[in-house]
Amino acid sequence: MKHFNKKLTFFIKTFGCAMNENDSEKLSGMLKALGYVEENDINKVGLVIFNTCSIRENADDRVFGNIGAIKTVKKTNPDLILAVCGCMMQQPEIVKKIVRTYPQVDLVFGTHNIHQFPELLNNFLVNGQRMIEVWEDSDAIVEDLPTDRRYPFKAFVTIMNGCNNFCTYCIVPYTRGREVSRQPGKIFNEVQALVADGCVEVTLLGQNVNSYGNDLEKDVNFANLLRKLNTIENLKRIRFMTSHPKDLTDAVIEAIADCDKVCNYIHLPIQSGSTRILKAMNRKYTQEDIINRVQKMKDRIPDVAITTDIIVGFPGETEEDFMETLKVIKACKFDSAFTFLYSIRTGTPAATMENQIPEEIKHDRINRCLEVLHQIGHDINQNYQDRVVEVLVEETSRNNPDRMTGRTRTGKLVIFEGDLSDIGKQVMIKITDAKTFSLDGKKIEQEETDGRINPYDDPVPENS
Ligand code: SF4
Repeated sequence: MKHFNKKLTFFIKTFGCAMNENDSEKLSGMLKALGYVEENDINKVGLVIFNTCSIRENADDRVFGNIGAIKTVKKTNPDLILAVCGCMMQQPEIVKKIVRTYPQVDLVFGTHNIHQFPELLNNFLVNGQRMIEVWEDSDAIVEDLPTDRRYPFKAFVTIMNGCNNFCTYCIVPYTRGREVSRQPGKIFNEVQALVADGCVEVTLLGQNVNSYGNDLEKDVNFANLLRKLNTIENLKRIRFMTSHPKDLTDAVIEAIADCDKVCNYIHLPIQSGSTRILKAMNRKYTQEDIINRVQKMKDRIPDVAITTDIIVGFPGETEEDFMETLKVIKACKFDSAFTFLYSIRTGTPAATMENQIPEEIKHDRINRCLEVLHQIGHDINQNYQDRVVEVLVEETSRNNPDRMTGRTRTGKLVIFEGDLSDIGKQVMIKITDAKTFSLDGKKIEQEETDGRINPYDDPVPENS
């Protein structure tokens, strides 16, 4: 045994999205099952894992910066093992670069074989030789991996992996492979077990949850999955992300409307409001489709909150295209949006498109876009003033230890005076100060609510 690591401690740094966070919870769960404990001091820790993201090129640079820094740490902590995994490792040229240039990396594995991690780690400990093992693809999701959840009262549940859509700016289909859905029974059992363990909220994860089940039997689809999970006793809230507008069927909208546990909140990334740019992005829907879907949701789902993602400055985007995006934002009245400047992602079709947009134009457009979004968000939040809302309390406010934060069913961040005993509970909060990005409120007792514990009983905001 060339290398034996005596320190059974680990540190995981996660880059990127909720799917990666969920993978990190599994890595942590596997390590804890092996007897490892978490340690935040990188100078003392025995094992460091970087779970990487490849969605943006500057995310790659950050990862390489972190890997570079470990070289120095290894001088004072020579037993340290460095493992690197996640989406970046699904790109062969990245793995080649690591093998060639970063001898401090001991283990490399990908998104399709995280279940092999304990075996790879053990092989490394026994042989002391670098382990590089990345699967190109997989046609199944490995079940029953131990998961170390960050919160006892809420959990991520991956329902599918991969994506079939090949949006022209996106690297995900190349790194996460084709869509693979989990069997509904497995998902149901997992959620049931989570609820038995004290969890009250689940967030169903997939790159495009609306196409869940397309690779399974005829009756398996996202709408039916929501209806089935809605029957689980003591589960209070079901959330999901991410939805692709082209696959948001009437059946899904009806299921959200019918199922009391499914939150009246949808993140629906539109990316652009220009039909011409949407075509260049290969999104397979039009401006009209977006407006139609949003209207349908607002008609059918009481008090629904809708957020979105917008990319500005996609190659070839003219001022007219950008104005179309603003038009759609105003028509749909999104509660909020994640906005991105288009950035080249090597390996995607858009990276080599002509008419890349100058940075100053992108910045000007994103600022104008944010101005419109913030005004709409502010107006929508004003409708919460003096309302009583149900909040699932999550943690202590970062800015004030006497205040707690939580989310409404519509995903709004609420801040109120409370204490640690509130964490994980659903409390009723009267909103006293509705701000643009959050709502301040005061905790009230059940009697003060006139028995209204369901936020659907609140007046529907004008904007919806
Ligand atoms: S739907 Fe498009 S943006 Fe989303 S993961 Fe798939 S390719 Fe990427």
